[in-house]
Amino acid sequence: MPKNLNVLSGLLALLLAGCGGSEAPAPAGEPTAAVATTTFANVTRDRLLNAAAEPDQWMTYGGSYNEQRFSALSQITPDNISQLGLAWFADFSTNRGQESTPLMIDGVLYVSQSWSKVNAYDARTGALLWEYDPKVAGEFGARGCCDVVNRGVAAWNGKIYVGVYDGRLVALDAATGREVWSTVTTDQSKFYTITGAPRVANGKVFIGNAGAEYLYRGYVSAYDAETGALAWRFYTVPGNPAAGFESPAMEMAAKTWSGNWWEKGGGGSTWDAITYDPRTNLVLFGVGNGAPWNAKARSPQGGDNLFTVSVVAVDADTGEYRWHFQEIPEEEWDFDAVQQITLADIEINGATRHVAMQATKSGYYYMMDATTGQLLVADNFVPVNWTTGYDLATGRPVINDGARYTLAEGPRIAQPGPVGAHSWHPMAYSPLTGLLYIPARESSIAYTVNPNGSPGNFNLNVNFTGGDAAYDEPGNTIPRGGSTKVLAWDPVRAQEVWSSERPTGASVGMQVTAGNVLFTGNPVTQELLAFRADNGEQIWSYRIQAGISAGSISYALDGEQYLAQVVGGQSPGGYYAPTYARLLVFKLGGTATLPPNAEFTQAPFAPPEQFATPEFVAAGATLYGGACAICHGDGGASRGMFPDLRRSPLLHSQQAFDQVVLGGIRQDRGMASFDGKLTPAETDSIRAYLVDRAIVARDTPPLAPPGQ
Ligand code: CA
Repeated sequence: MPKNLNVLSGLLALLLAGCGGSEAPAPAGEPTAAVATTTFANVTRDRLLNAAAEPDQWMTYGGSYNEQRFSALSQITPDNISQLGLAWFADFSTNRGQESTPLMIDGVLYVSQSWSKVNAYDARTGALLWEYDPKVAGEFGARGCCDVVNRGVAAWNGKIYVGVYDGRLVALDAATGREVWSTVTTDQSKFYTITGAPRVANGKVFIGNAGAEYLYRGYVSAYDAETGALAWRFYTVPGNPAAGFESPAMEMAAKTWSGNWWEKGGGGSTWDAITYDPRTNLVLFGVGNGAPWNAKARSPQGGDNLFTVSVVAVDADTGEYRWHFQEIPEEEWDFDAVQQITLADIEINGATRHVAMQATKSGYYYMMDATTGQLLVADNFVPVNWTTGYDLATGRPVINDGARYTLAEGPRIAQPGPVGAHSWHPMAYSPLTGLLYIPARESSIAYTVNPNGSPGNFNLNVNFTGGDAAYDEPGNTIPRGGSTKVLAWDPVRAQEVWSSERPTGASVGMQVTAGNVLFTGNPVTQELLAFRADNGEQIWSYRIQAGISAGSISYALDGEQYLAQVVGGQSPGGYYAPTYARLLVFKLGGTATLPPNAEFTQAPFAPPEQFATPEFVAAGATLYGGACAICHGDGGASRGMFPDLRRSPLLHSQQAFDQVVLGGIRQDRGMASFDGKLTPAETDSIRAYLVDRAIVARDTPPLAPPGQ
């Protein structure tokens, strides 16, 4: 794939959204009545606090409360990994994006898939015990940036908890998959979604949400694990002061904003990392970008804009503010600070410190004191141009004005770009090697201020396409596109120890074990991979017939160590094609095999003859860019999750085309109606543009997929 396409596909993957949207279907509801639960998923406070004593289990999203994704199992080693084979596999019911980490508790695997469905399997045999479908209305599929993914579930006292894409938080009976309670955590008339995994501690379920690319105000909530009643809520940005502040923290935060920021939402989504620290009884969570991205548009007279792009710590019982560390004040590049927050006790200068570590989209690695938030280490793990470094005394970065597009008339390149140097893909920390394993990525993008806001439903006030000329400016040394690497990182010295690089922008989650094995994957070659954790030697690979982006887990039953990995869907920045979506489970001596890889075939390019003038086609290109490209890709060329419109038989009939685009007959599959947003003349123009693109594609020799 040419590098420019790689960049664009990565960006679109990040920003995949906004293709319509419509009114909310489901009324907010009170929690439903509790029903009896069983001894399945009998996860207690004691078990979670002593998870290290039960290495056979994987009871929380990050493996244990410290979110290290370290397994103390050591049966699988570099010496015997050649015998690692498939034990069993299970097909999922949808091949949309798959980002989920399973749980394994007392012989049962609980795993979420796209559309917030949850499956339970016998962890020995793969027999399906139950499947839960929250029946998310298809139109919600157009409300998020990055597909209808779900990253995992939580377990507590006989129940499994899942955050549902449409904003619900649901407790399931771990034995049967039946709903115990369900509560709506968001305003479903707005573009809030949930893709992150809940966390549970002390009888409370913690959940955030996504949406800071829209009109959005962020918050984290805690719900009673037994009843679903709201226990506390912490807003991440202040609302309108005239309405009163919810807390002293909001009053403090409001002093760092200017203008009427609340009218544009403010942003600040906690769409991924939430870490409960039993040592301090704090909940640490990451807060994403301000909304709009353009800092001048949301806070015209400047200001740090708390708590955007910060790690915030609150009391787990009350939600009261304790500390924050803002990584980038007045941030404008979408460098969310929501990435995994890993706790560890690490020796620094001869003393053991209890620290929190994060490697973010900005390309920076941060180590904080987990009790106070004091910044201990800050250094970049990929090339960056937006800062020259941090003042550890103040905890503030020295911003490079040359990367600030809000100071420029034309485009300005920032490195990394909004796809980030490290996003949600799980990292891992081994207390044995003392290394942090980061799925790292190099990227850049040219941003240009858009005073009129952005097309579609986005709320960015910046354009991130059309700035290509900036790369050709004299003196620019930043490349377009970028590589991905498996990065083994010394968290104290902030130095690379080893890395394995590949020329694609797609990242994959990490798991490290006491057997000196690091598990990850490569979505381009469609392989699950293992490396020696200490020196990076690749020691195993397995062809998975699918894309891969999620993190894996290890567990043990009957004295055998298993590896479980969700595959399928796509991950941002790579090569995309429809693939199988499955849960794959391996063990030493496993002899199961995947069925023959039936190719996912696509319809041929068979457009009608062009029916419109070049001017009409050009107008359609502009309309397409604003309304359709975010989901359906550059020039109608799908990246796998959505139909390649150049191949659509609907191109032959304006009436059929409009039944979908304006009539909404595929709303159940996530294609929202554009009725009221586009006129029939405009959809005709879009169709003419797609016919043009299809004719070009038909007459162009195909490119071989990379990695083949
Ligand atoms: Ca963001």
